[in-house]
Amino acid sequence: MRFKWFYPGVSILIFATLYIAMTMTFSPSSFRILVAIVTGLLSYSIMLTLILISIRPKSIEKKVGLTELYEIHGWMAMVIPIAILLHVIIFWSGLESILAFDLSPTSITGYIGVLLLVIVMVTGIFSLSQTFIKQSKRLMKRKSKQKNRYLNLWLHRLSIFSVIAIYLHISNVGFVSDNQLFMTLLTVYTGLTLGAYIVKKIHNLMLPKYQVARIEKITPGVHEIELEPVKGKTMDIEPGQFAFFRFVDSDVTREPHPFSFSASSRTKEGNLTVMIQEDGDFTKTLGQVKVGDKVTIEGPYGNFYPESVQQSNKPMVLFSGGIGVTPSLGVLEAEVKKNSNRRIAFIWGVGFEKDLNDKEIIERLAHENENFTFHVIFSGEEVAGYPHGFVDDAFIKSQGLEEMYEKATWHICGPAPMLDAARGLLEANDVSEEQTFIEEFAF
Ligand SMILES: Cc1cc2nc3c(=O)[nH]c(=O)nc-3n(C[C@H](O)[C@H](O)[C@H](O)COP(=O)(O)OP(=O)(O)OC[C@H]3O[C@@H](n4cnc5c(N)ncnc54)[C@H](O)[C@@H]3O)c2cc1C
Repeated sequence: MRFKWFYPGVSILIFATLYIAMTMTFSPSSFRILVAIVTGLLSYSIMLTLILISIRPKSIEKKVGLTELYEIHGWMAMVIPIAILLHVIIFWSGLESILAFDLSPTSITGYIGVLLLVIVMVTGIFSLSQTFIKQSKRLMKRKSKQKNRYLNLWLHRLSIFSVIAIYLHISNVGFVSDNQLFMTLLTVYTGLTLGAYIVKKIHNLMLPKYQVARIEKITPGVHEIELEPVKGKTMDIEPGQFAFFRFVDSDVTREPHPFSFSASSRTKEGNLTVMIQEDGDFTKTLGQVKVGDKVTIEGPYGNFYPESVQQSNKPMVLFSGGIGVTPSLGVLEAEVKKNSNRRIAFIWGVGFEKDLNDKEIIERLAHENENFTFHVIFSGEEVAGYPHGFVDDAFIKSQGLEEMYEKATWHICGPAPMLDAARGLLEANDVSEEQTFIEEFAF
């Protein structure tokens, strides 16, 4: 929980040190000027922090979660337009001077920085950030169009040029350019941020390469892809984690997409498995992927099955909705491999019988291990021998799982409405946050 404050803390630290350094040689002559300086420095500090978030450092992600990180990114970004607006209004140098091209380097770089920032914000708020877009069906539809996503991602990267322009803008302000401490801090913070961004981009060029060893449809809408390492360089992953996959030489786009590592009895030891549901523009083209096609993998990310759970013997509920079963299959395989005797309840809410992959394998596991039980419920159709509906308290009780509320860790993955319902169910039954691990298939 406290790690959620890490990045806002970074912004405050950058802001506070810059402000203190500035006041060593300059004191604001009025409250207006104080507000202008605070808003300017605060927005720059947040801009640097947002770039640091976009680098997705694994150590922080593990503690906060990538979905939450993107949410924090969205909320922090909201401060910038308000702060910039105040800053620009107070330091407004006038439309006349713009029209007369009579601008100082400070103003020119400032306006370029703000113009780029507006583009970055518009693409972020209306096209990339799930936080705001999920409120509108129209925006969600736009976001899912691959062409829009691609263009907006590139436009969003203008944030780097905006940072450079605003750095130049601040450096040209008379009363700070002579302040050596301030300029050193400003340059170090900006240099470190841009440096980290460049290192990340270079690192992305050297990602572990895998190739498709097998691709098959395991249900009418789900492709199972087995990946084998090229040149033996493999990736260390923990069960239940996910990564960004980029098909680099297929007839599908090269945009990286997030998928969870899963498990399959059809996959050879040492290879990786992903199961991908045909959902939209990109996933519907996966039929064009061929054996031998190369894939780069950036990650792994996620904390669905953390070390504390791996090492304990506490009961565990793997609760999936539809294709959200993928990380749970990975976790189940890990538990089977270590001959675990912990109590595991595998709950799977599925729409239709045709969507149920690997049912026989999971049923056999449940049959062979008395500590493991398998609970399927169909919401889209009545299937003989299975309950019909959604996973709710009545279902949990009907399966004799109510004691799991208190005793077990809950690992939940599925579509957003199912996750909302699951959160409500656990809250109503006093399942603590520490017992709950949620993977959301959307950013
Ligand atoms: C952590 C995580 C793990 C996932 N694991 C799996 C899995 O194991 N199996 C599976 O079938 N699906 C998984 N997904 C969902 C999968 O990433 C999306 O269904 C897929 O990217 C949709 O792409 P599309 O262009 O076909 O669909 P679209 O209809 O274009 O997009 C559907 C939604 O997916 C999201 N999306 C699209 N492209 C991207 C992208 N490049 N990066 C991030 N989000 C994007 C958008 O929110 C969009 O609204 C996972 C998602 C996340 C976040």
